[in-house]
Amino acid sequence: MRHDTQISSLRGVGTRKAEALAEVGLFTVNDLLEHFPRRYLDRSTVSYTNDLRKDKQATIVGKVTGTQMRRGRKRSYFEMVIADERGFLKCRWFNGANWIQKRFKKGDVVAVSGKVDFYGGFQMVHPDFDVLNEEGTNPINTGIIVPLYPSGQKLQAAGLDSRGFRRLLRPLVDGLEGQIPDFLPKELLAEYKLMDLGDAVRDIHFPEDMDALKQAQHRLKFNELFFMQLLLAVRKQSMTETIKQNRFESLGDYLESQYKKLPYELTGAQKRVMNEIWDDLKSSHPMNRLLQGDVGSGKTVISLLAAAIAAGNGYQSAIMAPTEILAEQHYKNALTFFEGTPIRVVLLTGSQTAAQKRDLRKALKEGYYHVAIGTHALIQGKVHFKDLQLVVIDEQHRFGVLQRGELLEKAAEADVLVMTATPIPRTLSMTIFGDLSVSIIDELPAGRQKIITRKVDVITLPKVYGFIEGELKAGRQAFVVYPLIEASEKIDLEAATQGFEKLAERFKPFKAALLHGRMSADEKDSIMQAFSRNDIQLLVSTTVIEVGIDIPNATVMMIENAERFGLAQLHQLRGRIGRGEHRGVCVLVHRNVNSDSLDRLKIMVETLDGFKIAEEDLRLRGAGDIFGTRQSGLPALKIANILWDGEILKDSRRAAFDLVQKDPHLRKGIHDGIRRIILEKYADYSALAGIG
Ligand code: ADP
Ligand code: MG
Repeated sequence: MRHDTQISSLRGVGTRKAEALAEVGLFTVNDLLEHFPRRYLDRSTVSYTNDLRKDKQATIVGKVTGTQMRRGRKRSYFEMVIADERGFLKCRWFNGANWIQKRFKKGDVVAVSGKVDFYGGFQMVHPDFDVLNEEGTNPINTGIIVPLYPSGQKLQAAGLDSRGFRRLLRPLVDGLEGQIPDFLPKELLAEYKLMDLGDAVRDIHFPEDMDALKQAQHRLKFNELFFMQLLLAVRKQSMTETIKQNRFESLGDYLESQYKKLPYELTGAQKRVMNEIWDDLKSSHPMNRLLQGDVGSGKTVISLLAAAIAAGNGYQSAIMAPTEILAEQHYKNALTFFEGTPIRVVLLTGSQTAAQKRDLRKALKEGYYHVAIGTHALIQGKVHFKDLQLVVIDEQHRFGVLQRGELLEKAAEADVLVMTATPIPRTLSMTIFGDLSVSIIDELPAGRQKIITRKVDVITLPKVYGFIEGELKAGRQAFVVYPLIEASEKIDLEAATQGFEKLAERFKPFKAALLHGRMSADEKDSIMQAFSRNDIQLLVSTTVIEVGIDIPNATVMMIENAERFGLAQLHQLRGRIGRGEHRGVCVLVHRNVNSDSLDRLKIMVETLDGFKIAEEDLRLRGAGDIFGTRQSGLPALKIANILWDGEILKDSRRAAFDLVQKDPHLRKGIHDGIRRIILEKYADYSALAGIG
């Protein structure tokens, strides 16, 4: 039997089953083999009914002794009683009772898991359940490990509950015994102590013992991560094979002069990063570098110095920001930075008129401008450059590998610098940015004072206002931020608007302004400009100011309903202050709190370290939420987890990169199996890696 055999052609699979399977994306034998158990039932995890404790989680295996619909005070519910050798347990379902009752009959052997309640006897409400019957006959004594498969209502209706899957998979797995060749070379298996593939496929479904299961899981996780890393490795390899047309001959005429004109000394970390960038620029292969540096660490000046080198070599640069406000800010920085040089800087935004855009584009194409600044539209669509060689993408954690590829189609041989202030835990950056070289600014400019963070409730607000007033009187400025969450955009906007009116009144004669996402780019822009000129002292906004804005004179960041923000977002917002010589104060106002959100706010109070915050954020929200593989443009993971499988990820990365170093195009016979899997299973991604 082949791995791509259609499930529908298997014995015992009728159209009903095949259709239900197809609906959840399972078509081939291979898909079935990769329908991994969601958990396993083994003797060490099963309790007896006389060991139960109220409020504790437990799993019980027993025989159904009775089932019935019962009338409750409000509505009827389904009750099932199960018995093991030592006693009884009641299970009750208030929701879906009609459907649930069809799942069980007297005499079934079932496993139920859930929280134990006590109501005149032990009971579980809405437990997780599996019908085991013959396979489960007394697993407590026999020690058999029973795989429990994910299933859903439709699958169950087609007879594919957990037990149905076991029945389908058992003969399949037995039939494949000895027929699954391993694609990994022997030495690699030995080096990373990996189980044979055939054994792993068998043991992930029907392990003899927990040790075999662990090894099987390890091997299959390794597989997944290995192919992901292999795609990245091949991609990185192919980039290093690309030869740039435009070489950098020297640092040019502007770097030194502009460097000397900076009003400050670069930090050691900034200098180190400049050297790393210069090494890339002068090499014959395009730069693909990620610059990670916490908020306020001074990434902007790095991009401008790099642009100065490019201009000095006669090449154009593009600097892209995620929002128009930020593009505008970069533009102003660039104008100041290049003042007194012949270098011409241009800003392209969506709000310019068609005629303006046309003229600017023409000038860019003719090479009149040296540095172009804008949003992503800059290198998409109709914009053409005469000699684009440096592309800087600022504040860019939202773009994964694939998207970056598309973004940069125009500049395939250009040197690319991606800058991000989002501290990304190492395991994640290995995937999202796994094809880039990494530079880190791990040092803040000297003389910065530590930001003080406080979490307060509404009762304390008058005090907070008093404090803000003091800061404004001392000549400083303040941000007040309201949450903006899409689902309730309108309500949020109202909250911000009302808050603004109240605050404007409270802080007279200081000037306040409201900034929100529904404003036109022009409106937003003129407010930001007024704020940076200190014509406005209090800026009330929704989260549009999240990233990158640099107003060193602003010292207060007050965040309303702080519990509604993610940690990473709070960290970004807080990074807007404490950028100058004056001490910054961040006030997190909470209104509705549960213990989770209080915990999160506490982390903000306790640390300023972006890496710690990012890791906490991941831990609390899960990787998928922020920038899991879903957004990275890489294949989805079925069994491995980037957060928890860091060690396997590291191993698989080393194995993949070593392999590509030895055999850049996977042409050696010993790598045929690997190559075939990439072409079959990762066909959608092989272009990304340039494997054909
Ligand atoms: P980010 O890394 O968050 O983009 P910015 O580039 O906006 O940070 O820099 C934050 C502030 O620090 C700016 O006002 C910038 O002028 C200033 N700055 C950058 N480098 C230094 C330095 N070496 N010494 C002092 N101030 C610096
Ligand atoms: Mg920045």
